[in-house]
Amino acid sequence: MKALARLLGWLGWRQEPAQPAAHTAAAQAIAPAPAPLAAPATAVAPELLTPRDLERLRGVHPDLVRVIRRARRDAAFFVIEGVRSAERQRVLVAGGASRTQNSRHLTGHAVDLGPIPLDWQNIDSFRAIARVVQAAAEAEGVSIRWGGSFTGFFDGPHFELTWAAYPV
Ligand SMILES: [Zn+2]
Repeated sequence: MKALARLLGWLGWRQEPAQPAAHTAAAQAIAPAPAPLAAPATAVAPELLTPRDLERLRGVHPDLVRVIRRARRDAAFFVIEGVRSAERQRVLVAGGASRTQNSRHLTGHAVDLGPIPLDWQNIDSFRAIARVVQAAAEAEGVSIRWGGSFTGFFDGPHFELTWAAYPV
C-alpha cells in the first residue's frame, strides 16, 4: 500500500484528506464537552445549608457565613435567625429572651443555630455544635464568640463575631 501511495504521489496524484479541515472543525463544534476531571481537593464543598438557612443568613457578615458553611459539614444544625430588626430586638429584651439592645444581630454580626433535632433541654447538643463552629472559625481565621460562654446568661444557639476583631 505504501509503495502504491508513493507511486501515485510520484505521478502527481493527490489523495484527498479523509476529513477536510472545515469538516473536522464543525464536528468538534457539535461534539459533546469532554467529561470533567475529578474535582480538585480545593473545590468548594457541597452546600449543606438549606434554602431557608441561606435566606436567614441574608445580610449576615460574609466571614460569619463562611464559618457556618464550613461547620455545617461536620454538624447537623439549622439557622434560627440572622439579622434582626431593632423592633424585634426590643420585643425580645422586653420578654427576657435577650438582655441587650446592643445585639450583634442588629448589624449582621450574629446568628442563632439550632441543633437537628432541636431539643432546648439538651444542652450538650448545643455544646457539640459550639465545638464544631469554634473549630470552623479557627480554620477560617475568624474570631467568634459562643453565647454559651456568656457569663450569667447561657445563650446556646448564639454565635457572634467578636467586638475586638469586628468593631462594627
Ligand atoms: Zn443570638
